[in-house]
Amino acid sequence: MVLKYILPVIFVFSLYIYGWFYWYLKFYRRKIYASNIFSFHKISKYPEFGGTTNLLFQFENYLKFLKENGFKTTTIDDFLESKDDRKILIFFDDAYENVYRYAFPIMKKYSFTGVLSPVAGYIGKRNVWDAKTGKFKHMDLGMLKEMGDYGFEIISHSFSHKDLRKLNNEKLDLEILVSKEILEKSLKRRIEYFLYPFGLTNEKVKRKVKEAGYKGAFTSYTDKEDFDIYEIPRNTLYIIDTNLTLKTLLFRKPLFLFGHFDMKGRVTNWFGRFSPIIKL
Ligand SMILES: [Zn+2]
Repeated sequence: MVLKYILPVIFVFSLYIYGWFYWYLKFYRRKIYASNIFSFHKISKYPEFGGTTNLLFQFENYLKFLKENGFKTTTIDDFLESKDDRKILIFFDDAYENVYRYAFPIMKKYSFTGVLSPVAGYIGKRNVWDAKTGKFKHMDLGMLKEMGDYGFEIISHSFSHKDLRKLNNEKLDLEILVSKEILEKSLKRRIEYFLYPFGLTNEKVKRKVKEAGYKGAFTSYTDKEDFDIYEIPRNTLYIIDTNLTLKTLLFRKPLFLFGHFDMKGRVTNWFGRFSPIIKL
């Protein structure tokens, strides 16, 4: 009788330990993990179904921790050139309106800047690609300009947030090249980096991004050993994360926890690709 309950627990525990060692051999030993880059989606007072929201107090706690420990935000160019491990990049994927409303004032309070990645075809419109999150609006041009003027960097996150690996050349041009032109024209600033929707890319998509004149591009997680400026990995913080997650990812210790959080990020992110088809 007791075995009925104990056996599944032992099974799940063994699976977890197996997963951890798999992570250690495949990623940690080959140093495949993101450096000090953190991405957020929605910042809100209320939780939502998808889990990509970080609550306001949670977000402020991260910033407080970063400030108290001497971390500073910088530009993408400087970040990529610098060897200073206290420099960080904070991304706000999809440029939601709630980032303007809730995160921007706190970012200013701690004198941080970030990277906004709007989806060119959705400026000022509502999200349609996440499960049950249609109520979330994207920033309009005025908000993007205001944050840009304050010092936030703006990059392209495609035209319509599709899995670019599945598109033909013509459609890829719209997502990669035209999205850049739209943003440059409407924001009157240069758009030099790209962020792959769902972090999904391949060699063809990367080539297109390069040809379109971008200096580099970001993804979520990678399994590539060598640094590729067209596939820069980033960490993502979700609603279940705390300062312990942030601290562990920044300092990469204690090792067991680092494995736990990095693996959790990879697994969560992997499931993110299904969000457009799970319409609950
Ligand atoms: Zn996105």
